[in-house]
Amino acid sequence: MNQDLDTTMKYQENLKKNKFMSAALKEAQKAADIDEVPVGAVVVYQDKIIARAHNERESKQIFHGHAEFLAMMKAQKKLKSWRLEDCEIYVTMEPCPMCAGAMIQSRVKKVYYGVSDPKSGVASSICDLFSLPFNHKVETEGLLMQEESEKMLKAFFRKLRKK
Ligand SMILES: [Zn+2]
Repeated sequence: MNQDLDTTMKYQENLKKNKFMSAALKEAQKAADIDEVPVGAVVVYQDKIIARAHNERESKQIFHGHAEFLAMMKAQKKLKSWRLEDCEIYVTMEPCPMCAGAMIQSRVKKVYYGVSDPKSGVASSICDLFSLPFNHKVETEGLLMQEESEKMLKAFFRKLRKK
């Protein structure tokens, strides 16, 4: 391929990825605003955001209140199908085993995540669950706009310690 064209396409691709991750970061801010750990997620289908959610574990007292899990639940409702095979998920923090499991079960195409989570992340931190030979393989791409996500998390925990 023509090198200039290749560079332009990569640039466009990155622009698109950053746009969707920025939308997920906006969701994360909503979580911070209600004193939840700031994690946000969006589900993208045919280049459009079809579901947005933020962490609501404390306010709703549900263990599955993680941003990406809630966004996936909204997406399946919208698509009227549990199969999210043409969907991509953008989440500001590396998924935990529960959310990664839900992504495999719902056949999500790809997950983009922001900052790593050394305590419960299973895309690269504790293990790479997505690389195991399940019947469905979810593609992953990490550390997308990680600084922004990290900044928000650090600010949140700083505030928490002051309380
Ligand atoms: Zn999770």
